[in-house]
Amino acid sequence: MSNQNSNYLIVDGHQDLAWNILAFGRDYTRSAAETRRLELATDTPARNGDTLLGYPDYQHGRVALIFATLFAAPDRRKLGDWDFLCYPDDDIEAAHRLYSQQLDTYHQLINDHPDKFKLVSNRAELESLLELWVTAQGDNPLRTNDPPVGLLILMENAEAVRSPAELDLWWNRGIRIIGPAWAGTRYCGGTREPGPLTAEGYALLEGMAELGFILDLSHMDEEAVLQALDAYPGRIIASHANAQALLKGLDSNRHLTDRMLSGLLARDAVIGVVPANGFLLPGWKEQGGRETVTLEHVVAQIDYVCQAAGDANHAAIGSDFDGGFGLQSVPGTINSIADLQKLAPLLSAKGYRDEDVAAIFGGNWLSLLRESLP
Ligand SMILES: [Zn+2]
Repeated sequence: MSNQNSNYLIVDGHQDLAWNILAFGRDYTRSAAETRRLELATDTPARNGDTLLGYPDYQHGRVALIFATLFAAPDRRKLGDWDFLCYPDDDIEAAHRLYSQQLDTYHQLINDHPDKFKLVSNRAELESLLELWVTAQGDNPLRTNDPPVGLLILMENAEAVRSPAELDLWWNRGIRIIGPAWAGTRYCGGTREPGPLTAEGYALLEGMAELGFILDLSHMDEEAVLQALDAYPGRIIASHANAQALLKGLDSNRHLTDRMLSGLLARDAVIGVVPANGFLLPGWKEQGGRETVTLEHVVAQIDYVCQAAGDANHAAIGSDFDGGFGLQSVPGTINSIADLQKLAPLLSAKGYRDEDVAAIFGGNWLSLLRESLP
């Protein structure tokens, strides 16, 4: 039986850390509780919710590795006057600058706190990170201190890639995953802005495949997803996306239709389920109270992917925590990222074996990375 002592390593497929650091001055070396206390007198909780993240919480939850994003939005999707991490629509140079700044932010974080955060851009770095986590488990006598959390950099919205010719620049700076869309981009249709993969989109995929990037289909419109599934020869994921079939009545192209899901599974993809209330219960609004959504809703999404796949080798977690929402918008029993460990007994009760739970929590992301990182 899985114990409550957080035995499973978690790999989280999506967290917008740099965006939070730059937009709100968040310091993720602190605990979530400490950041909340410091933000009590600020506008941050109203803008982005109370944080769910922090280094001590990663330790409690055994979150060993995070796909850490570079993310900025075009002005047409600005969240408010305070939202300065936006670029004028179609201003590719401005997008490029914002994304470069976020990448610098990660390198700075890693430089300033090498004991707490570590870049993962190749297999050797991944294995040495995991070694530290294994050594740090329980009362192992080799244990010295808490291990660093790995950051694998994911570019969300590829507008900052000025042309496929500069993909090697991003690759050389450590980016390993690219999601072409957020809103629609010149590469393809995206959330609330449907459309196909464009000629530039096909060229982007070709350049990505040459270098060995992992393609993240999250936010891409269904039409573009189906084209990319055919066109992209490299590894494919959905870092943070839920199944539309369990979200009846929710009119959005943000979620995975059954066609997209079966296409992803046919390409041996891994899919990060998002434990955000708006993505778990159609029509959920903050006023409704976070208690109306439970971890069983998250389990249902995980189970849906596993049932579609016929195994537990494709479902994973892509929390998207702090990505435009916080404590107020997650299931009632989640107080911080560490509480994702509470999914383990629920999955066990549903018949998932310990090795299945380990795969869903982190093993599936790790297998994919072991097969695709340089
Ligand atoms: Zn996103």
